[in-house]
Amino acid sequence: MEFCKRCLYTTAHPLGLTIDEDGVCSGCRIHEEKDQLDWQERWTRLEKLVEPYRNLNGSNYDCVVPVSGANDSYYIVHLVKKRLGLNPLLVTYNRYFNTPLGIRNLANLRIRFNCDILYQNVNPESVRRIVRSSLRRFGSMFWPILAGQSVFPVQTAVRYRIPLIIWGAHQGLEQVGMFSHLHEVEMTRRYRKDHDLMGYEADDLPSVFDTLKQRDISQFRYPNDQALSSLGVRGIYLGNFVRWDPKAQHEDMISLYNYASARFERTFDTYDHVDCFSYMDLHDQLKLFKHGYSKVTDHATREIRHGRLTRAQGLDLVRRHEQKAPEHVGRFCEWLGVQPTALRFILDQHRNPDYWHETSPGQWVFNGWSARQHIPHDSGAPRTPSSSAAFIATHTRELYAGDKYITIGKGWPC
Ligand SMILES: [Zn+2]
Repeated sequence: MEFCKRCLYTTAHPLGLTIDEDGVCSGCRIHEEKDQLDWQERWTRLEKLVEPYRNLNGSNYDCVVPVSGANDSYYIVHLVKKRLGLNPLLVTYNRYFNTPLGIRNLANLRIRFNCDILYQNVNPESVRRIVRSSLRRFGSMFWPILAGQSVFPVQTAVRYRIPLIIWGAHQGLEQVGMFSHLHEVEMTRRYRKDHDLMGYEADDLPSVFDTLKQRDISQFRYPNDQALSSLGVRGIYLGNFVRWDPKAQHEDMISLYNYASARFERTFDTYDHVDCFSYMDLHDQLKLFKHGYSKVTDHATREIRHGRLTRAQGLDLVRRHEQKAPEHVGRFCEWLGVQPTALRFILDQHRNPDYWHETSPGQWVFNGWSARQHIPHDSGAPRTPSSSAAFIATHTRELYAGDKYITIGKGWPC
């Protein structure tokens, strides 16, 4: 495992990453483009790209925009509706692990931007059956979410005959520099299968798990190539045309549209993932078990690249957050119908022996990415990050004191 000398990533990154002769990773190299490209020119390219999709007689929407109660959704809709002047159909996939704050954010988004929105609610038994199976086999509680939120916009594009889908940033570009901004990479079925879905499309699941039937997976099935090509469906990423900086963007969205943020135990970033009780919780712990690093490393790396944290400050934050216990295990066990001890047993089976060593029953020693990083003490940087690195928490995720998920919740007084 080789470390980037600028950020906190290693060559073990699951999306694939290379390190050049100067010891700098492909993600950091592509990040340099953010300060080199002519973003005004790139915005003009985007305006030209979307122009043919504008529905001039108002008989249909101009584009499909996937949204949630977090994750850059406000900024994406802000760019699409306010700056490009398009009329989007918003779509959202119900993740079931909803926080009241996420439901509130989504309701507020719909009202503030005055948009039409479609909700996809897959029946709870199928979702639970898939989660039970994929948790045991892949150590993933998010397969239905990753599959649902990536396919529902595409299904909607076909069903409503709206050929343009607009996404935010491309994760492969942002994290590991899989592509240059200049490649203007678009959505593909292949990337979704390989990276979002751990190599398993919906149709693969019933043959892997005999507990699953066709009816369980039918809502997660990607439209066929013929349906997509006859309509010319394409999915573009705004991050190729806008200098993507989630921290600055979220702070604008808080002041412009009252986006609500909240604090987490397992990371310092208060802006992403506030709509979900599981993402920065059990799901994030599983990432640490399987891959030897967790979301706080992604957040710290992003902040280091944007120049708001030094590498030493980032590593300090990672070590402070990554071993924190998940806060919402009870809700998940209650929803899935398992005992916490049974869940713990399943989770422990997914600890990667490259990063975890069991010294005695239930006692584990961590040897993941942050444990192997060595940063010289004389690097000269202050231990405490400057005020520009501070994240604001406007609310708490609970908003009220319930102990179960609100699995359906479409509105919130805003
Ligand atoms: Zn790097």
